[in-house]
Amino acid sequence: RQSNLASALHNLDGRSYGNLKQIRGRYTFGPATVFIDRVQADPFASPSKVRVRVDRADAKFPLDLTTERADRIAASDYLLRSGNEVLAKLNQRALILGRPGQEILERTNILIDDTGFEARLLVNLPARGRRILGYQAADILTRDLPEFAERLFLFEHWSDARANQGGNAHAPSPRGLTDHVQLHRDQLELRSHLGEAELIGFVGNGAILPRTSGDSDLPMKSSDAVAFTSPPELEHTIDLSSGRSVSGMGIPRGVTVIVGGGYHGKSTILRALERGVYPHIAGDGREWVISDPTATSIRAEDGRAVTGDDISAFINNLPSGTDTRSFSTTNASGSTSQAASLVEAIEAGAQTLLIDEDTSATNFMIRDERMRALIPAEREPITPFVDRVRPLLTRQGVSTVLVAGGSSAFFEVADHVIALDAYVPSEVTNQAHELVGVTAADLESASPDLDPVAEPVRDTVPGSDSPTFSAAPRVPTAKALRPVSKTKTARAKGSDKIQFGRDFIDLIAVAQLVDTQQASGVAEALEYLAEIFDGRTALTDALTEVEDMLDAQGLDGITGHRDHPGHLTRPRRQEIAAALNRYRGLNLER
Ligand code: ADP
Ligand code: MG
Repeated sequence: RQSNLASALHNLDGRSYGNLKQIRGRYTFGPATVFIDRVQADPFASPSKVRVRVDRADAKFPLDLTTERADRIAASDYLLRSGNEVLAKLNQRALILGRPGQEILERTNILIDDTGFEARLLVNLPARGRRILGYQAADILTRDLPEFAERLFLFEHWSDARANQGGNAHAPSPRGLTDHVQLHRDQLELRSHLGEAELIGFVGNGAILPRTSGDSDLPMKSSDAVAFTSPPELEHTIDLSSGRSVSGMGIPRGVTVIVGGGYHGKSTILRALERGVYPHIAGDGREWVISDPTATSIRAEDGRAVTGDDISAFINNLPSGTDTRSFSTTNASGSTSQAASLVEAIEAGAQTLLIDEDTSATNFMIRDERMRALIPAEREPITPFVDRVRPLLTRQGVSTVLVAGGSSAFFEVADHVIALDAYVPSEVTNQAHELVGVTAADLESASPDLDPVAEPVRDTVPGSDSPTFSAAPRVPTAKALRPVSKTKTARAKGSDKIQFGRDFIDLIAVAQLVDTQQASGVAEALEYLAEIFDGRTALTDALTEVEDMLDAQGLDGITGHRDHPGHLTRPRRQEIAAALNRYRGLNLER
């Protein structure tokens, strides 16, 4: 139906926009098949949805790079970046493929499956006023879109020589694809070695951690940045099966405190570890910053809602008499919000917590000796994190990496202390322990590994010496995620907000949500959760169901769309939980 589409669009030229609906359907252009899935109702509505697909038999991509699931993720990521380059070359701005950030993630923009390669695009179909511009629309859909597909998906036409000529890193080239897929494999393999080496994070020598600016995720120019070098005591070398060997700082399981003067790069390291849960593209500077994939950044977030969290390990004996084993509020304080986010992270499966003094509530983190003397424990509702960080490790197996430049309080509970001096780290555990009169053996004996009956190192609140960090499972009601409106329920508004029915879920404090596409992934996951909640299914089990679906059928599977799912990025379980937990309409059975 090739000529059909062009002539149909020519015939529609000048007619009122609503007539465009007729062009929905499937059209063939040589090796490319174009699907027009959804046509916008008017020029100002959200863009139309189109897909273009090439069969494997025509595309002829090397099978060894496009068969394994992880390879398909990396190859799709490569095709997405290259696809934007192809669109730029075609000078076609109406076609929107979506722009990825620095991470290599599972997305819907490019689909690689057993039978072919597919690009999912959004397109603003052109109009003058409310009249169809039929000839321009034909150029976009019948000339540029098939041309785009041929340049991107016909591997035979790719050339290393041509890509190098342009000096453009993202022009499609066989070498570029191979390197991209291999880097991704190497990063995943390195991550898989962390566990056996008892590490929860790794920062490669030579890494560029700082970004160009506070609102950019691009690397600082290497002439300005101090490249990372591991302290010798923490250096690990990991040999990968590709033949690559990577050296850098391993952060051991346990409690690690990062100290150093203000502006010496502490938060920058922590932020890199935060993002190290995701693989990064070559040239990012964080290619070899690899974290425990469950690592979760925790911060204070006063004003957030909390529904039914057991924060009793941290907050007890509130003057109001409120039971903190099932704590709810519409307006949490700094300390209660941080306690809530922490127990929620653990509920969602975090094995590592990342905490920065800059974004923490001081009274949640520490209480000094004089204050302990002045205010008796039973009149202070808060058991500070410094008293809980070891039980968290020994009872729950949860490690912590903490930035603390302003207080020595954590020295006596730290397995490792790393000092930064002008962005250069050194290992200062022994000095720090000497200052507070603690030895590594003290820490060992006070908290044998994962001993379920171990006592906390310090405990000042009577009656709370066996803190629980994970309460009875929380069970949302069947209607917990069913807003009154029957129309489209959840929708990302930028990277830090989701509109859910008439409510908004504020995600600004959810540091590991990378972009709008991933927020859209979270929104879709919430809609999927709405179907699962039946008043009996625990929140964590429902999250597992979402993940199982994502593993089995990818992001397409949770959208319920049979054709074009829109532009989505797969979120972690932790970020889905974070959104759910911040939803003010969340209701629990118990
Ligand atoms: P801290 O948390 O110790 O106060 P930050 O991590 O916020 O310090 O870093 C302070 C400044 O130094 C930031 O502007 C950051 O971009 C910059 N910076 C951090 N690490 C490096 C580095 N390795 N090389 C150059 N600049 C850096
Ligand atoms: Mg800081």
